[in-house]
Amino acid sequence: MSKLAINGGPKVREKLFPAYKVIGEEEKEAVAKVLDTGMLSRYLGCWHDDFYGGEQVRALEKEWAEYYGVKHAIAVNSCTSGLYCAVGAAGIEMGDEVIVSPYTMSASATAALVYNAVPVFADIEEDYYCLDADSIEERITERTRAIIVVDIFGLPYDVDKINALAAKHNLIVIEDCAQAPGARCKDRFAGTWGDVGVYSLNYHKHIHSGEGGVVVTDDDDLAENMRLIRNHAESVVGAKGTKSLVNMIGFNYRMTEIEATIARCQLKKLDKLLKKRQDNCKYLSNKLGEIPAIVAPKVRPDCTHSYYKHSFKFKADIAGVDRNSFIDAVKAELPATELREIEGVLIGCGYVKPIYLEPMYQQQIAYGSNGFTFVGPHYNGKVNYSRGICPVVERMHFEELFCHEMMRPPTTHKDMDDLVNAFYKVWEHREELKAAEVSR
Ligand SMILES: *Cc1c(COP(=O)(O)O)cnc(C)c1O
Repeated sequence: MSKLAINGGPKVREKLFPAYKVIGEEEKEAVAKVLDTGMLSRYLGCWHDDFYGGEQVRALEKEWAEYYGVKHAIAVNSCTSGLYCAVGAAGIEMGDEVIVSPYTMSASATAALVYNAVPVFADIEEDYYCLDADSIEERITERTRAIIVVDIFGLPYDVDKINALAAKHNLIVIEDCAQAPGARCKDRFAGTWGDVGVYSLNYHKHIHSGEGGVVVTDDDDLAENMRLIRNHAESVVGAKGTKSLVNMIGFNYRMTEIEATIARCQLKKLDKLLKKRQDNCKYLSNKLGEIPAIVAPKVRPDCTHSYYKHSFKFKADIAGVDRNSFIDAVKAELPATELREIEGVLIGCGYVKPIYLEPMYQQQIAYGSNGFTFVGPHYNGKVNYSRGICPVVERMHFEELFCHEMMRPPTTHKDMDDLVNAFYKVWEHREELKAAEVSR
């Protein structure tokens, strides 16, 4: 008789994990107030008092800047648009190279392409999955203008080494901290270590307004450029008297008053939500880390982790089965999560495929059909997106890393115990999986 659910045995748990539902009465009341005003957005796309948006947008920006201890916070309609604003504002030009992490959501790299720069992928750190400083240094050429670092899974990047490298080579650092709101490195928050930091407020993030993003910086010029790009720069610069016209093509990246008022409520909840998540992760890291084939995530010294994803390494040589077989068996023991039922059990083998392996990079087709941006008279380099250019990220993604999202509140230690029991059950019955592997 088989014991494991994947072979027909009983599951460890049937009842769905509870939804991460962080919208409550506060948000409802705040939204009702905005609706009553009839003014759902107040932006004007020309040089005017309303160029900077309405009351809620401005209040959110003020509160965000205070919370994070920065001079400027700029609300936008997504982290993606925030990244685009940042690259544009930094004056990145056609044919420039931008060094990017391959282990991130696709927009971190697309931000370079949007301004006709070429993304160059450096490898990640074996322990922390963020960009590796030595790999960055190997990739720097006379064309390199910026580094887009990502605080992946919620852990701040290596600020000491990478900021020193950037200073040495006169590079701009754009910090994609979509996954790390409230995480810290030393005395400062993630997102405030780069020249620009970009947060996300999309539905999947720690706090959200449905869609949305906030960009932060201490640099007055970058801030003003980003405000221009957010709101139809080209029709504003004349009347405003803006001197430099570099990248002053504007977009509509404006956040509505409704999203802004929700985001204000959400910011107040961040600390509490984050503490519970961190507590669940700590509990789980300790328990799962005791399984000989599982390595709990390390936290960089002097940093805190905000655990957008709770990531582990799986050592197939110790288990005697490969990661995917093992995780498939664990998933068979567990239920889905409320509101996200169609995604199934929220445990993933790897994260997203290393970005350079996506078709756009493999075939080098972005603007038009002739390979523009990757090749052309504007670019005197030759970029390489072959499999093997970043061996660490490939090994992590395809063989070792797995991550889950069951640590989001209101899940409790008791819920975490079911997760632990599922892993232990599969660990103890791994011979069943080996037998299945052999017979395959
Ligand atoms: C979610 C995410 C983004 C994009 O955020 P949006 O607000 O959906 O545009 C960018 N980078 C990373 C690392 C993310 O996790």
